[in-house]
Amino acid sequence: MPQNTFKALVLTQEGKKTVATIQQLALDDLPEGDVLVAVEYSSLNYKDGLAVTGKGKIVRQFPMVPGVDLAGTVLESSAPDYQVGDKVVLTGWSVGERYWGGYTQKARLQSRWLVPLPAGMDTKTAMAIGTAGFTAMLCVMALEEAGILPDGDKPILVTGASGGVGSVAVALLAKLGYTVHAVSGRPETEGYLRELGATGFVSREEMNQPPKPLEAQRWAGAVDTVGSTMLARVLAEIDYGGAVAACGLAGGADLPTTVMPFILRGVKLLGVDSVMCPFARRQQAWARLVQDLPGNALQSISHVASLEEVPQLADDIIAGRVRGRIVVDPNAS
Ligand code: NDP
Repeated sequence: MPQNTFKALVLTQEGKKTVATIQQLALDDLPEGDVLVAVEYSSLNYKDGLAVTGKGKIVRQFPMVPGVDLAGTVLESSAPDYQVGDKVVLTGWSVGERYWGGYTQKARLQSRWLVPLPAGMDTKTAMAIGTAGFTAMLCVMALEEAGILPDGDKPILVTGASGGVGSVAVALLAKLGYTVHAVSGRPETEGYLRELGATGFVSREEMNQPPKPLEAQRWAGAVDTVGSTMLARVLAEIDYGGAVAACGLAGGADLPTTVMPFILRGVKLLGVDSVMCPFARRQQAWARLVQDLPGNALQSISHVASLEEVPQLADDIIAGRVRGRIVVDPNAS
Protein backbone atom coordinates (compact mmCIF):
# COMPACT_ATOMS: atom_id res chain seq x y z
CA MET A 1 0.00 0.00 0.00
CA PRO A 2 1.50 3.43 -0.93
CA GLN A 3 2.47 5.54 2.07
CA ASN A 4 -0.21 7.87 3.44
CA THR A 5 -3.02 5.95 1.79
CA PHE A 6 -5.49 3.77 3.60
CA LYS A 7 -8.27 1.32 2.84
CA ALA A 8 -12.00 2.08 2.81
CA LEU A 9 -15.19 0.51 1.50
CA VAL A 10 -16.73 3.01 -0.92
CA LEU A 11 -20.26 3.01 -2.35
CA THR A 12 -20.83 4.49 -5.80
CA GLN A 13 -23.88 4.51 -8.04
CA GLU A 14 -24.01 2.96 -11.51
CA GLY A 15 -27.39 3.92 -12.89
CA LYS A 16 -29.80 2.89 -10.13
CA LYS A 17 -27.42 0.23 -8.78
CA THR A 18 -25.29 0.73 -5.66
CA VAL A 19 -21.78 -0.69 -6.10
CA ALA A 20 -19.42 -1.38 -3.17
CA THR A 21 -15.66 -1.50 -3.79
CA ILE A 22 -12.56 -1.48 -1.62
CA GLN A 23 -10.50 1.61 -2.49
CA GLN A 24 -7.21 3.19 -1.43
CA LEU A 25 -7.90 6.73 -0.24
CA ALA A 26 -5.60 9.60 0.78
CA LEU A 27 -6.20 12.00 3.66
CA ASP A 28 -7.06 14.69 1.10
CA ASP A 29 -10.00 12.57 -0.07
CA LEU A 30 -11.66 12.80 3.36
CA PRO A 31 -14.41 15.35 4.07
CA GLU A 32 -13.87 18.31 6.37
CA GLY A 33 -13.93 17.88 10.13
CA ASP A 34 -12.06 18.91 13.25
CA VAL A 35 -10.97 15.42 14.32
CA LEU A 36 -9.12 12.67 12.41
CA VAL A 37 -9.67 9.20 13.86
CA ALA A 38 -7.82 5.92 13.27
CA VAL A 39 -10.79 3.58 13.09
CA GLU A 40 -10.23 0.38 15.04
CA TYR A 41 -13.70 -1.11 14.67
CA SER A 42 -17.09 -0.39 13.16
CA SER A 43 -20.12 -2.69 13.09
CA LEU A 44 -22.78 -4.01 10.75
CA ASN A 45 -26.32 -2.89 11.50
CA TYR A 46 -29.58 -3.35 9.61
CA LYS A 47 -29.23 0.18 8.23
CA ASP A 48 -25.74 -0.64 6.92
CA GLY A 49 -27.29 -3.59 5.13
CA LEU A 50 -29.77 -1.25 3.47
CA ALA A 51 -26.99 1.20 2.52
CA VAL A 52 -24.50 -1.32 1.12
CA THR A 53 -27.04 -3.36 -0.86
CA GLY A 54 -28.84 -0.21 -2.04
CA LYS A 55 -32.12 -1.87 -0.96
CA GLY A 56 -33.07 1.09 1.23
CA LYS A 57 -32.76 4.63 -0.03
CA ILE A 58 -30.76 5.78 2.94
CA VAL A 59 -27.51 7.00 1.34
CA ARG A 60 -27.99 10.70 0.63
CA GLN A 61 -24.89 11.28 -1.53
CA PHE A 62 -22.32 9.27 -3.49
CA PRO A 63 -19.51 8.38 -3.22
CA MET A 64 -20.21 7.27 0.36
CA VAL A 65 -18.15 5.44 2.94
CA PRO A 66 -20.89 3.54 4.81
CA GLY A 67 -20.81 2.33 8.43
CA VAL A 68 -23.17 4.01 10.89
CA ASP A 69 -20.79 3.70 13.83
CA LEU A 70 -17.10 3.48 14.71
CA ALA A 71 -14.65 3.42 17.59
CA GLY A 72 -11.00 4.36 17.44
CA THR A 73 -8.17 6.68 18.47
CA VAL A 74 -7.81 10.39 17.73
CA LEU A 75 -4.86 11.00 15.34
CA GLU A 76 -5.30 14.78 14.84
CA SER A 77 -7.58 17.27 16.54
CA SER A 78 -8.29 20.99 16.42
CA ALA A 79 -11.23 20.49 18.81
CA PRO A 80 -10.61 21.57 22.41
CA ASP A 81 -12.43 18.54 23.82
CA TYR A 82 -10.25 15.91 22.12
CA GLN A 83 -6.49 15.32 22.23
CA VAL A 84 -4.32 13.04 20.11
CA GLY A 85 -4.52 9.54 21.58
CA ASP A 86 -8.02 9.87 23.01
CA LYS A 87 -10.29 6.87 22.50
CA VAL A 88 -13.69 7.79 21.05
CA VAL A 89 -16.94 6.18 19.97
CA LEU A 90 -19.50 7.42 17.46
CA THR A 91 -23.03 6.28 16.66
CA GLY A 92 -25.74 8.10 14.73
CA TRP A 93 -25.76 11.68 13.42
CA SER A 94 -26.50 10.26 9.92
CA VAL A 95 -22.92 9.08 9.62
CA GLY A 96 -22.79 6.39 6.92
CA GLU A 97 -25.91 7.92 5.33
CA ARG A 98 -25.27 11.65 4.85
CA TYR A 99 -21.65 11.82 6.07
CA TRP A 100 -18.80 9.35 5.56
CA GLY A 101 -18.88 6.58 8.15
CA GLY A 102 -16.87 3.82 9.75
CA TYR A 103 -15.93 1.29 7.04
CA THR A 104 -12.47 2.83 6.65
CA GLN A 105 -9.10 2.81 8.37
CA LYS A 106 -9.24 6.61 8.83
CA ALA A 107 -12.19 8.98 9.24
CA ARG A 108 -12.37 12.76 9.51
CA LEU A 109 -15.35 13.76 11.65
CA GLN A 110 -17.14 16.53 13.53
CA SER A 111 -16.06 16.37 17.18
CA ARG A 112 -19.64 17.09 18.36
CA TRP A 113 -20.66 13.64 17.04
CA LEU A 114 -18.15 11.85 19.30
CA VAL A 115 -18.42 10.50 22.80
CA PRO A 116 -15.26 9.72 24.81
CA LEU A 117 -14.97 5.96 25.13
CA PRO A 118 -16.07 5.27 28.70
CA ALA A 119 -13.47 4.02 31.17
CA GLY A 120 -13.57 0.24 31.41
CA MET A 121 -14.56 -0.33 27.76
CA ASP A 122 -12.32 -1.15 24.78
CA THR A 123 -13.05 -0.19 21.17
CA LYS A 124 -13.89 -3.76 20.13
CA THR A 125 -16.47 -4.14 22.89
CA ALA A 126 -17.87 -0.72 22.00
CA MET A 127 -18.56 -1.96 18.47
CA ALA A 128 -19.81 -5.39 19.61
CA ILE A 129 -22.41 -3.15 21.26
CA GLY A 130 -22.48 -0.62 18.40
CA THR A 131 -25.56 1.23 17.22
CA ALA A 132 -27.73 -1.85 17.83
CA GLY A 133 -26.63 -2.31 21.44
CA PHE A 134 -26.67 1.41 22.14
CA THR A 135 -30.27 1.48 20.89
CA ALA A 136 -31.13 -1.53 23.06
CA MET A 137 -29.80 0.44 26.06
CA LEU A 138 -31.92 3.47 25.12
CA CYS A 139 -34.96 1.16 24.97
CA VAL A 140 -34.22 -0.25 28.42
CA MET A 141 -33.76 3.27 29.83
CA ALA A 142 -37.10 4.31 28.28
CA LEU A 143 -38.86 1.35 29.93
CA GLU A 144 -37.26 2.13 33.31
CA GLU A 145 -38.34 5.78 33.05
CA ALA A 146 -41.89 4.58 32.31
CA GLY A 147 -41.81 2.66 35.59
CA ILE A 148 -41.32 -0.80 34.08
CA LEU A 149 -38.92 -2.35 36.58
CA PRO A 150 -37.68 -5.91 37.16
CA ASP A 151 -40.06 -6.43 40.09
CA GLY A 152 -43.17 -6.86 37.89
CA ASP A 153 -45.09 -10.13 37.84
CA LYS A 154 -45.21 -10.40 34.05
CA PRO A 155 -42.29 -10.82 31.61
CA ILE A 156 -40.81 -8.32 29.16
CA LEU A 157 -41.09 -9.34 25.50
CA VAL A 158 -38.30 -8.68 22.97
CA THR A 159 -39.19 -8.98 19.27
CA GLY A 160 -36.71 -9.67 16.45
CA ALA A 161 -34.79 -11.19 19.33
CA SER A 162 -32.02 -12.95 17.43
CA GLY A 163 -31.06 -9.74 15.57
CA GLY A 164 -28.55 -7.15 16.78
CA VAL A 165 -30.82 -4.87 18.82
CA GLY A 166 -32.88 -7.83 20.02
CA SER A 167 -29.91 -9.92 21.19
CA VAL A 168 -28.39 -7.10 23.23
CA ALA A 169 -31.83 -6.17 24.64
CA VAL A 170 -32.38 -9.76 25.81
CA ALA A 171 -28.91 -9.88 27.42
CA LEU A 172 -29.27 -6.47 29.07
CA LEU A 173 -32.77 -7.01 30.44
CA ALA A 174 -31.82 -10.45 31.80
CA LYS A 175 -28.68 -9.03 33.47
CA LEU A 176 -30.85 -6.34 35.09
CA GLY A 177 -33.09 -9.01 36.60
CA TYR A 178 -36.12 -8.82 34.28
CA THR A 179 -37.88 -11.99 33.19
CA VAL A 180 -37.42 -11.92 29.40
CA HIS A 181 -39.35 -13.73 26.69
CA ALA A 182 -38.04 -13.64 23.12
CA VAL A 183 -39.89 -13.62 19.80
CA SER A 184 -38.00 -15.08 16.88
CA GLY A 185 -38.80 -16.37 13.42
CA ARG A 186 -35.93 -18.83 13.71
CA PRO A 187 -36.73 -21.78 16.04
CA GLU A 188 -33.07 -22.85 15.89
CA THR A 189 -32.08 -19.69 17.83
CA GLU A 190 -34.02 -20.73 20.95
CA GLY A 191 -30.90 -22.19 22.63
CA TYR A 192 -28.89 -19.06 21.80
CA LEU A 193 -31.60 -16.79 23.23
CA ARG A 194 -31.89 -18.89 26.39
CA GLU A 195 -28.10 -18.59 26.82
CA LEU A 196 -28.48 -14.81 26.62
CA GLY A 197 -31.01 -14.99 29.45
CA ALA A 198 -34.44 -15.41 27.85
CA THR A 199 -36.62 -17.81 29.81
CA GLY A 200 -39.50 -17.96 27.35
CA PHE A 201 -39.64 -18.31 23.55
CA VAL A 202 -42.52 -17.21 21.30
CA SER A 203 -42.68 -17.90 17.57
CA ARG A 204 -42.81 -15.04 15.08
CA GLU A 205 -45.81 -16.74 13.48
CA GLU A 206 -47.79 -16.53 16.74
CA MET A 207 -46.97 -12.83 17.25
CA ASN A 208 -47.64 -11.95 13.61
CA GLN A 209 -51.36 -12.83 13.86
CA PRO A 210 -53.46 -9.65 13.49
CA PRO A 211 -54.79 -8.97 17.01
CA LYS A 212 -58.25 -8.13 18.32
CA PRO A 213 -58.28 -4.56 19.72
CA LEU A 214 -57.38 -6.02 23.12
CA GLU A 215 -55.93 -9.45 23.87
CA ALA A 216 -55.06 -11.25 27.14
CA GLN A 217 -52.51 -9.19 29.13
CA ARG A 218 -49.27 -11.18 28.84
CA TRP A 219 -46.40 -8.68 29.08
CA ALA A 220 -45.35 -5.94 31.54
CA GLY A 221 -43.48 -4.25 28.72
CA ALA A 222 -41.66 -4.87 25.47
CA VAL A 223 -38.75 -3.86 23.26
CA ASP A 224 -39.98 -3.96 19.66
CA THR A 225 -37.59 -4.00 16.70
CA VAL A 226 -40.11 -5.27 14.14
CA GLY A 227 -43.08 -2.87 13.91
CA SER A 228 -46.21 -3.52 11.81
CA THR A 229 -48.59 -6.37 12.80
CA MET A 230 -46.17 -7.64 15.44
CA LEU A 231 -46.09 -4.28 17.23
CA ALA A 232 -49.90 -4.08 16.96
CA ARG A 233 -50.19 -7.51 18.64
CA VAL A 234 -47.64 -6.60 21.32
CA LEU A 235 -49.62 -3.42 22.15
CA ALA A 236 -52.87 -5.43 22.43
CA GLU A 237 -51.18 -7.89 24.85
CA ILE A 238 -49.47 -5.37 27.18
CA ASP A 239 -50.53 -5.28 30.81
CA TYR A 240 -52.49 -2.35 32.27
CA GLY A 241 -50.03 0.60 32.66
CA GLY A 242 -47.30 -1.15 30.69
CA ALA A 243 -45.06 0.26 27.97
CA VAL A 244 -43.44 -0.66 24.67
CA ALA A 245 -40.10 0.81 23.59
CA ALA A 246 -40.33 0.77 19.78
CA CYS A 247 -37.17 1.31 17.77
CA GLY A 248 -37.35 -0.75 14.60
CA LEU A 249 -39.29 -1.68 11.50
CA ALA A 250 -37.69 -4.94 10.30
CA GLY A 251 -41.23 -6.19 9.60
CA GLY A 252 -42.62 -2.97 8.09
CA ALA A 253 -43.31 0.68 8.83
CA ASP A 254 -47.10 0.44 9.18
CA LEU A 255 -48.92 0.04 12.48
CA PRO A 256 -52.34 -1.63 12.19
CA THR A 257 -53.50 -0.99 15.75
CA THR A 258 -56.48 0.70 17.46
CA VAL A 259 -56.57 3.26 20.27
CA MET A 260 -57.88 0.61 22.70
CA PRO A 261 -54.57 -0.37 24.35
CA PHE A 262 -53.83 3.32 24.99
CA ILE A 263 -57.20 4.50 26.28
CA LEU A 264 -58.42 1.38 28.08
CA ARG A 265 -55.13 0.07 29.47
CA GLY A 266 -52.97 3.21 29.64
CA VAL A 267 -50.31 1.51 27.54
CA LYS A 268 -47.43 3.81 26.60
CA LEU A 269 -45.73 3.62 23.20
CA LEU A 270 -42.20 4.98 23.62
CA GLY A 271 -40.42 5.88 20.40
CA VAL A 272 -36.65 5.39 20.61
CA ASP A 273 -34.20 7.04 18.22
CA SER A 274 -30.43 6.67 18.50
CA VAL A 275 -29.53 8.96 15.59
CA MET A 276 -30.29 12.41 17.02
CA CYS A 277 -30.00 11.40 20.69
CA PRO A 278 -28.51 14.33 22.70
CA PHE A 279 -24.92 14.18 24.02
CA ALA A 280 -25.79 13.89 27.73
CA ARG A 281 -28.10 10.93 27.10
CA ARG A 282 -25.45 9.29 24.88
CA GLN A 283 -22.89 9.53 27.66
CA GLN A 284 -25.40 8.21 30.18
CA ALA A 285 -26.26 5.25 27.91
CA TRP A 286 -22.57 4.34 27.33
CA ALA A 287 -21.87 4.56 31.06
CA ARG A 288 -24.84 2.27 31.72
CA LEU A 289 -23.54 -0.20 29.12
CA VAL A 290 -20.18 -0.42 30.94
CA GLN A 291 -22.01 -0.97 34.20
CA ASP A 292 -24.73 -3.35 33.04
CA LEU A 293 -22.98 -5.45 30.37
CA PRO A 294 -19.77 -6.95 31.74
CA GLY A 295 -16.87 -7.00 29.20
CA ASN A 296 -17.30 -10.58 28.02
CA ALA A 297 -21.11 -10.58 27.96
CA LEU A 298 -21.25 -10.04 24.20
CA GLN A 299 -18.39 -12.33 23.18
CA SER A 300 -20.70 -15.21 22.32
CA ILE A 301 -23.01 -13.05 20.22
CA SER A 302 -20.48 -11.16 18.09
CA HIS A 303 -17.96 -12.10 15.43
CA VAL A 304 -15.38 -10.07 13.52
CA ALA A 305 -15.45 -9.45 9.75
CA SER A 306 -13.13 -7.64 7.32
CA LEU A 307 -14.17 -4.82 4.97
CA GLU A 308 -14.02 -7.33 2.10
CA GLU A 309 -16.70 -9.47 3.80
CA VAL A 310 -19.13 -6.59 4.32
CA PRO A 311 -21.04 -6.75 0.97
CA GLN A 312 -22.00 -10.44 1.47
CA LEU A 313 -22.89 -9.82 5.12
CA ALA A 314 -25.01 -6.84 4.07
CA ASP A 315 -27.08 -9.19 1.90
CA ASP A 316 -27.30 -11.61 4.83
CA ILE A 317 -28.54 -9.04 7.37
CA ILE A 318 -31.27 -7.82 5.01
CA ALA A 319 -32.34 -11.42 4.37
CA GLY A 320 -32.53 -12.00 8.17
CA ARG A 321 -29.65 -14.52 8.11
CA VAL A 322 -27.42 -12.74 10.67
CA ARG A 323 -27.55 -13.71 14.32
CA GLY A 324 -26.28 -11.32 16.98
CA ARG A 325 -23.64 -8.71 16.13
CA ILE A 326 -20.96 -8.35 13.46
CA VAL A 327 -17.92 -6.23 14.35
CA VAL A 328 -16.13 -4.82 11.29
CA ASP A 329 -12.32 -4.56 11.56
CA PRO A 330 -11.00 -2.28 8.76
CA ASN A 331 -7.45 -3.45 9.47
CA ALA A 332 -8.25 -7.15 9.00
CA SER A 333 -7.59 -8.75 5.62
P1 NDP B 1 -31.17 -7.25 12.51
O1 NDP B 1 -31.37 -7.60 11.08
O2 NDP B 1 -29.93 -7.69 13.19
O3 NDP B 1 -32.41 -7.83 13.37
C1 NDP B 1 -33.74 -7.72 12.97
C2 NDP B 1 -34.47 -9.00 13.39
O4 NDP B 1 -35.86 -8.83 13.15
C3 NDP B 1 -34.06 -10.21 12.56
O5 NDP B 1 -32.90 -10.83 13.07
C4 NDP B 1 -35.28 -11.08 12.72
O6 NDP B 1 -35.22 -11.68 14.01
C5 NDP B 1 -36.42 -10.06 12.76
N1 NDP B 1 -37.04 -9.88 11.44
C6 NDP B 1 -36.41 -9.63 10.26
N2 NDP B 1 -37.32 -9.50 9.28
C7 NDP B 1 -38.55 -9.67 9.83
C8 NDP B 1 -39.88 -9.66 9.34
N3 NDP B 1 -40.13 -9.44 8.05
N4 NDP B 1 -40.88 -9.85 10.21
C9 NDP B 1 -40.63 -10.06 11.52
N5 NDP B 1 -39.39 -10.09 12.06
C10 NDP B 1 -38.36 -9.90 11.22
O7 NDP B 1 -31.36 -5.68 12.64
P2 NDP B 1 -31.00 -4.71 13.89
O8 NDP B 1 -31.21 -5.45 15.14
O9 NDP B 1 -29.72 -4.03 13.60
O10 NDP B 1 -32.16 -3.62 13.71
C11 NDP B 1 -33.53 -3.97 13.96
C12 NDP B 1 -34.44 -2.82 13.58
O11 NDP B 1 -34.16 -1.70 14.42
C13 NDP B 1 -34.24 -2.32 12.14
O12 NDP B 1 -35.49 -1.93 11.61
C14 NDP B 1 -33.34 -1.11 12.32
O13 NDP B 1 -33.46 -0.19 11.26
C15 NDP B 1 -33.86 -0.57 13.63
N6 NDP B 1 -32.90 0.24 14.37
C16 NDP B 1 -33.34 1.46 14.84
C17 NDP B 1 -32.52 2.26 15.56
C18 NDP B 1 -33.06 3.53 16.14
O14 NDP B 1 -32.28 4.41 16.50
N7 NDP B 1 -34.36 3.67 16.27
C19 NDP B 1 -31.09 1.92 15.75
C20 NDP B 1 -30.74 0.58 15.31
C21 NDP B 1 -31.63 -0.21 14.60
P3 NDP B 1 -35.74 -13.18 14.29
O15 NDP B 1 -35.18 -14.04 13.19
O16 NDP B 1 -35.21 -13.49 15.64
O17 NDP B 1 -37.23 -13.12 14.22
